[in-house]
Parts: sequence; C-alpha cells; structure tokens
Amino acid sequence: MGTARHMVTGGRRPGQDGEARRTAHRTDRTRGAWGHAVVIGAGFTGLLAARVLSARFARVTVVERDRLPPGTTHRSGLPQGRHPHGLLARGADIVEELFPGIRGDLAARGAPVFDFGSGFATRLPHGWAPRATVGVEAQSFDLTALESALCDRVRALPQVRFRDGFAVEGLELSADRRRAVAVLGRGRGCDDPDRAPVRIGADLVVDAGGRTSRLPAWLAAAGLPRPEERRVASPLVYSSRMYELPEGEAPEWLVSFEMTFPPLVSRGGAAITVDGTHRLVSLVAPAGQLPPPRDDAALREFAGSLRNPHFADVMTHSRPTTPAYRCPVGGNHWIRYHRLRRCPDRLLVLGDAFCAFNPVYGQGLTVAALQARLLGRLLAGAAAPAGIARRFQRHAARIVLFPWLTATAADQGWSAAPPPPVARCVRRFLDTVMRRAPENPVLYAHFVRVQNMLVSPLVLLRPSLLRHLLRRTPRAGGEARAG
Ligand SMILES: Cc1cc2nc3c(=O)[nH]c(=O)nc-3n(C[C@H](O)[C@H](O)[C@H](O)COP(=O)(O)OP(=O)(O)OC[C@H]3O[C@@H](n4cnc5c(N)ncnc54)[C@H](O)[C@@H]3O)c2cc1C
Repeated sequence: MGTARHMVTGGRRPGQDGEARRTAHRTDRTRGAWGHAVVIGAGFTGLLAARVLSARFARVTVVERDRLPPGTTHRSGLPQGRHPHGLLARGADIVEELFPGIRGDLAARGAPVFDFGSGFATRLPHGWAPRATVGVEAQSFDLTALESALCDRVRALPQVRFRDGFAVEGLELSADRRRAVAVLGRGRGCDDPDRAPVRIGADLVVDAGGRTSRLPAWLAAAGLPRPEERRVASPLVYSSRMYELPEGEAPEWLVSFEMTFPPLVSRGGAAITVDGTHRLVSLVAPAGQLPPPRDDAALREFAGSLRNPHFADVMTHSRPTTPAYRCPVGGNHWIRYHRLRRCPDRLLVLGDAFCAFNPVYGQGLTVAALQARLLGRLLAGAAAPAGIARRFQRHAARIVLFPWLTATAADQGWSAAPPPPVARCVRRFLDTVMRRAPENPVLYAHFVRVQNMLVSPLVLLRPSLLRHLLRRTPRAGGEARAG
C-alpha cells in the first residue's frame, strides 16, 4: 500500500493511534488470520459482526461513539433501547448459533420463553389472532438486556477489543480510492482532552453505525458516487414506559400487540413481559395524535381508546418504574450500496446503516442477524478479504428484499399517493392474510412462521393455503377479546 492516501474527512491530519502503535508490532495470534477489522458501532449489528469477524481476523476493534455503560444501563446512542423489541424466531436461532447458550443466559436473567401462538395476544387489523400453540418459540426481553449479554460475550473473545467514547468522522481510502484502509475519528471523553484526530488502520471496515451512519456523505466527500436511497416515511412515534406487575399476578399474556395498518388502523401498541416482574408498554401513533410523555391521564385515555385493552389494563393496575420515553419510528430506508458501480473494497455495511424498517413487523434485528450470518459464511469461504464487500452487499440486498416489501407496503397506507404496483399487490395480499387469520388457526400458524422468517412468504401461496385465503367469508370472526 502506498503512502499517499485519500482522506475522507476534514480537519488536520490525524496522529498515529496510540493503541494501534502499541499493538502494531504484535504478530497475528491466529495463524492465517487476516489482520485487523474495524467495526463502527457497538449496537446489535456491530456486536454480531464482531463475533463473525473474530473467526478470521487476528484483531477486531469495535469503535463506539457512546461510552458503553456497565450492565443494562441505557445510553444515548441507543434511543430504541427504551422501547419494546421482539427478536423473531429466525433471528433468535442465529444469535444462539453465534453465541451458544445465550437464550439460556437471558432466561436465567428472567426473560420468559414461550410459544408464539399461545404467549402472544395479537390484535390484527380485522380481529384477534387465534391463541393456540403454533410450535414457534419466542422469548421476550429488554433490548438493553440482550445487547448487554451479547457485549459480555464479545468482550470475552480474545481477538476483539472495544474502543468506546470514540466517534468515527471519516474514512481513509487508498490513493486510487479502490479500498478502505482506515477509519478516522476522535475520542469524546474527558480522558481525551485535546480530542486529537486519530487514525485506526484497517484491513476491513464494517459500518454498523445504525440509522445515523454518515457513510454516504463520506463516499461523496471522496468524490465517489453517492448511493441511491429508497425512503418510505412513517409518521409513527412510540411512547414507552416500564411497569412493575402487581405481586402474585400470573400474566394472562406475555406479549400483547395491536398492529397498525394504515389507513385502516393508525394507532396501536405493544407490551412485553421482560422478566417475571416487569412489563414494558408502548403506545404507537402518528406524532400529532400521541399525548405528551408527561401527561399520564391523556396517555391512559389514549390506551383506553385502542381495541386491545391490555395496555390500558397495565397502565391502570401496575406501578410505573420509569418515565415515559418517546421515540420516532424513523421510517424505512434502504441505501443501495449493491448498486454502486464504484464502491471501495474492504468496506461493507450492515444493519440499520444499510436498511432500516418501520418496526411494525419486528424485522430489524433479525435482518441484521441474517446479514451477520451471511458475512460469516462469506468470510469462511474466502481465501482473503479482497472482494468480499461487493459479494456481501449483493447477497445482503436479497436478504432485505422481502422484509422491505412488507414493511413499506404497510407504510404506503400513510400516503395519499397511489402505491407503486408491487407495493399494492403486497398490501392486498397482507390484508387478505390478516383478514382471514383470525378465523383460521391453520393459516395463522403458517403466517407466524413466515412472520418469524422461518419460511419463505411464498409458502402462503401453496395451493393448500391459497384455498384458505381465497375462500369468501361474510366477516372475520375474531372480534372477541383475546383470552
Ligand atoms: C421504537 C423502535 C422499536 C423497534 N422494535 C423492534 C422490534 O421489535 N424488533 C426488531 O427486530 N427491531 C426493532 N426495531 C429496530 C431495531 O432497533 C434496529 O433494527 C436495531 O437496533 C439496529 O441495530 P444496529 O446495530 O444496526 O444500529 P444501532 O442500534 O443504531 O447501533 C448503531 C451504533 O453505532 C454507534 N455509532 C453510530 N455512528 C457512529 C460513529 N460515527 N462512530 C462511532 N459509533 C457510531 C451508535 O452510537 C450505536 O451504538 C425497533 C426500532 C425502534 C426505533
């Protein structure tokens, strides 16, 4: 590699990274390992990426803008951590594959494991989903508990080190701009008083910086084409609060959900039992319709206006243990790196930094897990890191296609403009499934498997299931309360 490098950031030339200097002389401890991988972001995606990279790279550095607090303390770079998360069965399987025993660790911390059909009380747009066992295992937990458990596991990997309180501000490319060679950034803490710019050399850079990733701007600043972006807006906002269950109360449900499906259903909610004693309850609506977080009475009244009574029940009968926190859903975006004709090699993008969804179908974590698994497989099958980035982005685009279509088909309902033809078809199909599901446990059981990404959505087009979908019935029969 020549010494002339293309710096994709402003400011003075960064100094040599002290830690990098200290470790530069170290030879790879892993025979045949590929040197140093740098992961931007210690969120869910960054942690999974670090895990798979550790199998091939001698060193993996995870750089994180926030200081990583101990245990399950919330941090500002993870605003969604205050809000209910569901990890779909497929995502949970991948996490267990990458971190054997993690499900048990979480269960030991109180996260219940249950059947998706019987543990969930789900209010679909046209009625209640059947409450019958479907053979799909679910586990509910606080996102911070999951990330803290993952972080402990990743910290224990000898190849991985964390550099928290460090914000990446740019990339350094090779002189011909064909590959990424370093990240550039600076510390944010008081132990870094002059906040001198620092260069961290890398043989592979992984951007797992989430929705706030600045990679498109960094590429543009390097004179490279900016990737095309697809965006479908969602006006939804979550307002969430933790409650303590009344002592001795045996929960009738472990997760309760009222799905939004605009324009038919524009308000909803989600509540999850995070351990034997607490529930995290969230109300979801367009920003202007949700009362302010401090207005308890108005929030309870809002909850009482929903068709799912469980949120109001918890809010009325349980003691809140936190304030209410608001968070915008943030809409859907897909940054189409796979279409870039000139994208530097040794640079890849995962998770929300690449494609983020309205969480209505709870897909973000599972799609990130699928991408981490894909990366692991590409790394395992390659002789060198060169060329992996392009292959990864191409395959990752296939992973996000169906989740993107389902999330955005639902969100087209917010717009007065006619949806594009594909979105219109997907919407009509989803609407039919959800219309039929309340009256049809067989169909619902298959839908749950599709929703959990255990099988392809095309399964629903099998003649045996299509028959259920096409049958005309006078009215969905699921209006009864969940029981
Ligand atoms: C309200 C809400 C509810 C949701 N519910 C669900 C759900 O039920 N199920 C589901 O699967 N998904 C859900 N999601 C989506 C899910 O939260 C995301 O898909 C997932 O957390 C994305 O993880 P990530 O690691 O890609 O990004 P993030 O979690 O955003 O992590 C990115 C990290 O990178 C760091 N970072 C960013 N830029 C830099 C930089 N320049 N330098 C250093 N560090 C940087 C940030 O501080 C952060 O820690 C929900 C999202 C929201 C908002």
